[in-house]
Amino acid sequence: MNFSYETRDVRVVFGAGSLVRIAEELEHLGLKRVMLLTTPGRMEDREDVLTLLGARLAGEYNGARLHVPLEVVADAKAALGHFSPDSLLAFGGGSAIGLGKALAYETKLPLVAIATTYSGSEMTAVWGNSDGKMKRTFRNPEVAPRLVVYDPELTYGLSPAVSAASGMNAIAHCVEAEYAPERSQVTSFFALEGLKRLVASLPVVVESGNDASARSDALFGAHLAGRALDMTSMGLEHKLAHVMGGRFGLNHAEAHAALVPWVTAWNAESAPEVMQRMSAALGVADASRTLIDLSKRLGIRPLGALGFTAEGIPVAAELITAMSFPNPRRVDAAGVRWILEQAIT
Ligand code: NAD
Repeated sequence: MNFSYETRDVRVVFGAGSLVRIAEELEHLGLKRVMLLTTPGRMEDREDVLTLLGARLAGEYNGARLHVPLEVVADAKAALGHFSPDSLLAFGGGSAIGLGKALAYETKLPLVAIATTYSGSEMTAVWGNSDGKMKRTFRNPEVAPRLVVYDPELTYGLSPAVSAASGMNAIAHCVEAEYAPERSQVTSFFALEGLKRLVASLPVVVESGNDASARSDALFGAHLAGRALDMTSMGLEHKLAHVMGGRFGLNHAEAHAALVPWVTAWNAESAPEVMQRMSAALGVADASRTLIDLSKRLGIRPLGALGFTAEGIPVAAELITAMSFPNPRRVDAAGVRWILEQAIT
């Protein structure tokens, strides 16, 4: 056995009801004046957070948006200037956490995350922004959250559609971590366990959003997926999802959800050992088939229903083939076309 990996300083607090610990956890880190960051969709649910923060709340910005548009970063930074916080607290999914990372990069303030979707962003040093045309991603350990709180009870309000898409986004992290150049026994440990938990729990989550055990398992799976993502480089599926978001304006998690079964199927012939490991972890004959079936069962919308049209296929193929990234199968325009043709309907 041979492996090497790095870990960062991050404290993770996981469990139903763990939100109530937020003030005490901030106190441990010596953080006294936090700037709360949310999407507009979290306005009602943030009330509990405001109460728990009490005098620790320096100010808030509720305009976080998908793909972290540069104008939102500028706007939030201006708001931050009025409050002089000593830290940033993102409450929400990848959009709020992404804004937190962009601000952490610019201000050097420490970031804390209360994660309420399955994006996994809270566990990574990867961050990105978008200028309306393209989405760029960067990696910098300084922006990664120092404290992450997971409270499955906060996810009960996630709709079946957002739960399903966000869960498939986490599955995409697990799949691509399994064939990443940095894969090791350690990254596989996180990726395969995450995959197993997500595949088992998501159908229950979608059918019964208040199932405590399934919600807990799905969030744990997403945490493991985020760890796997952080330790590896992503391949074709993530690049395609970023093109769908950055160039065609599709929702991030839904684009992943539509793409991951088909990219897995396309890569399968060049990654037989990966497919074997994933199939063994899931206890099935063909992990790729399982993801296609799961996607149907979860009611995942195809790219066409998200606003992507066939005219976009050659544009996406050109953008993707001009990029360099690791992937088990050599990526060409015909391959991208095949994947998008499957994922569009
Ligand atoms: P999101 O954060 O935009 O959340 C989706 C929607 O659900 C929003 O309207 C939000 O207000 C709402 N919401 C969030 N939590 C909720 C809850 N518990 N109950 C009810 N509603 C809730 O979407 P996302 O998919 O979590 O994140 C997408 C963004 O994250 C993209 O910009 C993507 O690029 C980024 N991302 C980054 C990484 C990384 O490692 N850097 C990983 C995954 C995603």
